[in-house]
Amino acid sequence: MNKKIYTNIDCFCFGLKHDTFWCMKKVLIYFLFFINLAIVIGIWINGSGILLNGSTGDIFIALGRLVGLLAMFFILVQLVLIGRIRWIEQQFGFDNLNILHKKIGFSIGATILLHPFFIILGYSIAGRISYFEQISILLSSWPYVLLAAIGLTILLLCVGISISIVRKKLKYETWYFTHLFIYVAIGLVFAHQIQTADVSFGWAKTYWLFLNFIVFGLVLLYRFIRPIYLTFKHQFYIDRIVTETDSVTSFYIKGKHINKYFFQPGQYMHIIFLAKKMWYSHPFSFSTAPNSDSLRVSIKSSGDFTSTIHKVPVGTHVIIDGPFGIFTEKTAKYDAYLFIAGGIGITPIRSLIESLSAKNKDMILLYGNRTEKDIAFRSELENMNVKIHHVLSETNDPKFETGYMDNERIVRLAPDFMKREIFVCGPPVMMNAVVKLLKEMGVPKSQLHYEVFSY
Ligand SMILES: Cc1cc2nc3c(=O)[nH]c(=O)nc-3n(C[C@H](O)[C@H](O)[C@H](O)COP(=O)(O)OP(=O)(O)OC[C@H]3O[C@@H](n4cnc5c(N)ncnc54)[C@H](O)[C@@H]3O)c2cc1C
Repeated sequence: MNKKIYTNIDCFCFGLKHDTFWCMKKVLIYFLFFINLAIVIGIWINGSGILLNGSTGDIFIALGRLVGLLAMFFILVQLVLIGRIRWIEQQFGFDNLNILHKKIGFSIGATILLHPFFIILGYSIAGRISYFEQISILLSSWPYVLLAAIGLTILLLCVGISISIVRKKLKYETWYFTHLFIYVAIGLVFAHQIQTADVSFGWAKTYWLFLNFIVFGLVLLYRFIRPIYLTFKHQFYIDRIVTETDSVTSFYIKGKHINKYFFQPGQYMHIIFLAKKMWYSHPFSFSTAPNSDSLRVSIKSSGDFTSTIHKVPVGTHVIIDGPFGIFTEKTAKYDAYLFIAGGIGITPIRSLIESLSAKNKDMILLYGNRTEKDIAFRSELENMNVKIHHVLSETNDPKFETGYMDNERIVRLAPDFMKREIFVCGPPVMMNAVVKLLKEMGVPKSQLHYEVFSY
């Protein structure tokens, strides 16, 4: 079931060893980005370059147009980054794309006001009129400027609610649905842009329309059409619900042609349970290796959604989008593995161990939990070909390691850790500490794989 479509010839790519096909895709993605950036700058030079030789007002107008054009270009890049476009996500991982999305989003938020600022400044200097007169002319007689101003305000509000101090105060769903207004903002700004300045005529207009069409087409295809297609094809439903621990519940999902739903151990899906008040998409890792019988997710009760999900009845239909993620064995260089799991971070690791166990790989698992009764999949793991060390933070039982993952414990329990692929997954605090520790211990980046359980 694990569809391996890559060649095995290695190449050296951006400091990491990957197979050739993977490497070429990455190069192609960078190429597409830079070539389009170059075209956009070319469009600006073609349309506004002449203004750079003009008066101070002209120079500000040219700069204003450049900021506007680049801002819209990077907004399109933003859509590509969160569009769940498989062939891009599979090269970089959604968590990395999401980090980039946040950084670009804040940069756009911080600079986009320079567009109206430079334009107002430029035209008022060139026309020798006051700023207020210029604003009034722009709003009353320029095409769609008022709509663009509304779009800009929405964009800035969406960036504002993403600042972590504000976002932490909002429910995830409130933040997410407010964020969707960005699509409205883009529509309003686009209507203004296509009527004015450098992309309003000739080949530049054709290119700009084409670029927008492609980006929106890809987002539509991967975010909406693909999950709907998968739902119709497989008709997924919950076949069985199993309590693993006091706080972890497993959902076995069946459907038509389940053996034709491909994923790799360690990956995750976005799932919507079609039950009352559960209609939100949430990411969960596959907690088994691929098999022809069912898919499984195991969910820890931690918030409003996850603490009520166990009440969903058997037979409930689900929509699945995915698989996603690069927390897989695909890039492994060594044949031996060290897994470090904390709490529910065991889910993708359990899936990887099951798959590698069938291949008789040398594996060590350091599995951290608070108490013995928090250990999920204990008997399943004991039946696999992996050496397990339970590290419990709240126990006096000498048969367990007591405390947290630290330097001494890693060296003692996995002395050859430098010759193993290391996979880490767990709560953010544990992840940050362990990844930092491993880097300090000299583990190269290419050997270290981790999955962050939050966006
Ligand atoms: C790649 C990945 C794999 C994951 N795998 C598992 C797993 O196998 N088992 C498991 O129990 N948990 C897993 N999680 C975490 C799980 O998705 C969150 O715990 C869950 O969505 C929280 O929802 P809540 O409403 O109950 O909690 P809340 O308290 O409302 O949210 C807690 C945090 O979870 C995140 N979150 C909430 N809702 C969503 C959403 N709809 N989409 C994305 N993020 C959201 C936000 O960062 C939020 O701040 C995974 C997360 C990611 C990113």
